[in-house]
Amino acid sequence: MSPFTSTIFAEITALATSTGAINLGQGFPDTDGPQSLLDDACAAIQGGANQYPPGPGVPQLREAVAEHQKRFYGLDVDPEREVLVTAGATEAIAATVLALCEAGDEVVTFDPVYDSYAASIALAGAVRRTVALRWPDFALDPDALRAAFSERTRVVLVNTPHNPAGKVFTRAELELIGSLAREHGAIVVTDEVYEHQVFDDAEHVPMAALPGMAEQTVTISSAGKTFSVTGWKVGWLHGPAELVSAARAVKQFLTFVNAGPMQPAVASALSLGDDFYTGLASDLRRKRDLLCAGLRAAGFEVSVPQGTYFVIADPTPLGHDDGVQLCRRLPELAGVVAVPVSVFYDDPEAARPLVRFAFCKRDDVLHDAVERLGRLRP
Ligand code: PMP
Ligand code: GLN
Repeated sequence: MSPFTSTIFAEITALATSTGAINLGQGFPDTDGPQSLLDDACAAIQGGANQYPPGPGVPQLREAVAEHQKRFYGLDVDPEREVLVTAGATEAIAATVLALCEAGDEVVTFDPVYDSYAASIALAGAVRRTVALRWPDFALDPDALRAAFSERTRVVLVNTPHNPAGKVFTRAELELIGSLAREHGAIVVTDEVYEHQVFDDAEHVPMAALPGMAEQTVTISSAGKTFSVTGWKVGWLHGPAELVSAARAVKQFLTFVNAGPMQPAVASALSLGDDFYTGLASDLRRKRDLLCAGLRAAGFEVSVPQGTYFVIADPTPLGHDDGVQLCRRLPELAGVVAVPVSVFYDDPEAARPLVRFAFCKRDDVLHDAVERLGRLRP
């Protein structure tokens, strides 16, 4: 694990804390999720739901996940056999990769890659085969995708909407990924934690909703993102029963179970009305526009994200061509922290100047941050 000793997010948050800079680095909201969710969890604790929950998760939450998948995507999911509650999406990813991969198996991933994917693949002794998505549009190159598959491909690990690129994979891109996975007998593991954080005309298409894909897809999501409670670490996965039970076998020995009193609260929140879900996306779209406009006014080039709560910006016009160095100095130069994007690429040169900012923050915090970033102008 020596290449994975500390995560970039922990480092950047420590930098924000030690310098008092505004933290637009690590992606966590500065406003908690719906009051009913918080009240329900308190009531569950007061009501005594404080011992080990059932291994696969409390029945209400498994049922709520199945209903959510039916309501939003028309998917039929059996809550008894096809859902597993996990300690965040992070554990869902690790448990699935560890369950599905033998040492030497290959996993196709997309750079820039979320850091836990590489670590989970390394823990399994599997090998990562990378397809680079490139600034500024992060489009998928079909030839590069085809070239990443081999007879050893076991898993394709997709993330849509994509952190940090802010890309929402199109139906055509997902169909190509799905058809190559089928051709190679590979399982698609799809991390959809930002499924409700999609803007403008972009549409979140779950891989499992594509014809013929439900049978070989494991879908992952998390309450942390949808309900702005990243510290709760309540996530889930669903897919074919035999894959879910394999992931469950691994989960038993990672955490056994998790978040007993939060699980029924998340179950109720999943059935919140459409207003909640549309409000979440429209609030974030406003914040995205505020930050993108502010970054442009400050002199950055910006790739406007279609989803997630991250935006990637290029500070080259401001005379900074190394994102790692800029992020190190950003607290001193502007009183803000951000994350360098090159750390998410096998080939750091593919993203050398780029930096990622999070916009899941109060409007006043974003206004303050963009004003401070104005200090970067030469
Ligand atoms: N996947 C992606 C793409 C993420 O951005 C995050 C961020 N937190 C996670 C997984 C982890 O989710 P959780 O906090 O639920 O473990
Ligand atoms: N997913 C969050 C981000 O991308 C961070 C989660 C973490 O710190 N591991 O910023």
